[in-house]
Amino acid sequence: MLDKVVIANRGEIALRILRACRELGIRTVAVHSEADRSLKHVRLADESVCIGPAPATGSYLNIPALLSAAEVTDAVAIHPGYGFLSENADFAEMVENSGFVFIGPRPETIRVMGDKIGAIRAMSTAGVPCVPGSDGPLGEDPDENLRVARAIGYPVMIKAAGGGGGRGMRVVHSEAALLGAISLTRQEAAAGFGNATVYLERYLEHPRHIEFQVLADNHGNIVHLGERDCSLQRRHQKVVEEAPAPGLSAELRQRIGDRCVAACRAFGYRSAGTIEFLYQDGEFFFIEMNTRIQVEHPVTEMITGIDIVKQQLLIAAGEPLGFSQADVNVRGHAIECRINAEDAQTFQPSPGVVSLFHPPGGPGIRLDTHLYQGYEVPPYYDSMIGKLIVHGETRAVAIARMQNALIEIVIDGIRTNLDLHRMLMDDAAFRAGGVDIHYLERKLGLH
Ligand code: ADP
Repeated sequence: MLDKVVIANRGEIALRILRACRELGIRTVAVHSEADRSLKHVRLADESVCIGPAPATGSYLNIPALLSAAEVTDAVAIHPGYGFLSENADFAEMVENSGFVFIGPRPETIRVMGDKIGAIRAMSTAGVPCVPGSDGPLGEDPDENLRVARAIGYPVMIKAAGGGGGRGMRVVHSEAALLGAISLTRQEAAAGFGNATVYLERYLEHPRHIEFQVLADNHGNIVHLGERDCSLQRRHQKVVEEAPAPGLSAELRQRIGDRCVAACRAFGYRSAGTIEFLYQDGEFFFIEMNTRIQVEHPVTEMITGIDIVKQQLLIAAGEPLGFSQADVNVRGHAIECRINAEDAQTFQPSPGVVSLFHPPGGPGIRLDTHLYQGYEVPPYYDSMIGKLIVHGETRAVAIARMQNALIEIVIDGIRTNLDLHRMLMDDAAFRAGGVDIHYLERKLGLH
């Protein structure tokens, strides 16, 4: 087993990784910025190292500081969590070249999947259905680009090959707007991601976001853990996730899950990963693969009983998966609400001191958070402060449990989006199941 792991992240996911390490008897090193000395996992870790100032560029994104922290503490492995350096292939490579285990896929895999065009090629070659599009980067010839868009059919979406986090995308509804939009997206992509490459895809007008979780070890064992529906989004950011996806047939789940496994086998995937699809009119279209643990992994854990973070650690230690596809059984239904410290009207982050905190409880309730009473949410990082996850025998039971938990939970001193979740759990369309990715923004009056 791994002897000691550096947790190269903060907040709830750092605490989640610490808990998994503890269960496996792995010692932990918390690395933190100057603003994060009072994080819960920093207090609980076996050792902690301050790696730099509050802004993430000087700390959580500071590769030399992270590697030195691993060296001085004699750690053997680094878990990157999500966000920050988790999908940075250069970081993964430096970790491995410095003699540590990177808890994630091979750096080459991260590099291929980090380039959206490379990812689409790899998936389409492996037989995974993709969105009809330009089959590669757009060139400089305006006539050719107009022809490609016409062949796809409007509306089309221009996407930056190096984009991420919902940035670097633009919808074009008519031919007149295409060329201007391409050059604008190119400029933004060059400035934002250091890569001006863009490509075209058909714009799907009412898709759901459904993604498959996979796990692969170093011995050729690969399984999928079914899907999650993450269609409730605002500005391409997920707000509520659930598993399984309402209304998805067992046959389709198996067909797409098997394709995902086959694709992972084809490009030698390792560790946990998520293959994201848009799902419209009964068809799946691949959009991207995330080569890391995801925020919403708990809903899959709740319905399968498989601890995905522990599996990541076991795989990194060279252990074979202890189960096969036939052993993966889905039980009941799980829902996750992302709790953000933000203003309910403006969605602006709301940092500050948590003056009062009461976590909810009862059967099927799980709260993944680093909050405690008196904790000060710093203004420097993502505004997500926790995830409320429920499990029930049926979707209706899960919704009822979430409603109870949302009544019980108290977070005072800062503003949160808890009222938004209370409203969503009462919403008739959500309760019916299967809303599309634009539903939440329409409901919020943003469309
Ligand atoms: P990112 O890496 O920035 O998250 P994705 O490719 O995963 O980018 O897309 C993010 C979101 O943008 C999707 O969840 C979906 O809401 C929307 N989107 C992406 N591609 C399309 C498309 N072809 N048609 C319609 N919506 C899309």
